Amino acid sequence: MKPTVMIVEDEASLATMLRYNLEKEGYNVTEAADGEEAVTVADETPPDAVILDWMLPRMSGIEVCRQLRRKNETRGVPIIMLTARSEETDKVRGLNVGADDYMTKPFSMPELVARVRALLRRAKPSQAKGQLVFGDILLDLDAHKVSRGGKYIHLGPTEFRLLQYLMERPGTVFSREELLNGVWGPDIYVEPRTVDVHIRRLRKALNLDNGADVIRTVRAAGYALDNSDEPVA
Ligand code: CA
Repeated sequence: MKPTVMIVEDEASLATMLRYNLEKEGYNVTEAADGEEAVTVADETPPDAVILDWMLPRMSGIEVCRQLRRKNETRGVPIIMLTARSEETDKVRGLNVGADDYMTKPFSMPELVARVRALLRRAKPSQAKGQLVFGDILLDLDAHKVSRGGKYIHLGPTEFRLLQYLMERPGTVFSREELLNGVWGPDIYVEPRTVDVHIRRLRKALNLDNGADVIRTVRAAGYALDNSDEPVA
């Protein structure tokens, strides 16, 4: 799955240049030209990283940042804030609104792309190691294998991707639609009930030896990888 980078920038020429360079790097790009649109776009397609201009029409970058941090889907998303030299860079730093990095305009495009790459790497450190761990469950991305308590567990390809998706964001509750988007992809039409079927299979496979159930069903909301008995590794 390609990481999605959301560009929030009202200067059209800069937005176009950012899109060009990020797509060249192999990222999916979404765009918003003002603060309110940014919140909507992030709702529709939760980004893996955000490039956020500080001076925006309708809602400032600071407020966008706050709103993204309030939502489950975007709480942990890395954000790079863009400020003009004349604008209040120090104030932005001082406000500490939850941006992960700052760049002052004009900036070098290769440097920005490098910082996006670094933030994405830091945001998903487990992917770099090729392993995800949750309690006694180990998902090996390189070997494409899952084990629990040292015992190998056989999973179908969809269950594997579903588990990977949940293990990358433990504790987060996902609706069926979000899981469909994240695991099956936004372009594929599948009945939301299909998610239930695969969750059931995944649960059965994981709980084979009467292990604690790590998938929490949240009534009317969806599913989360969660287990109060076992600490998140
Ligand atoms: Ca601006």
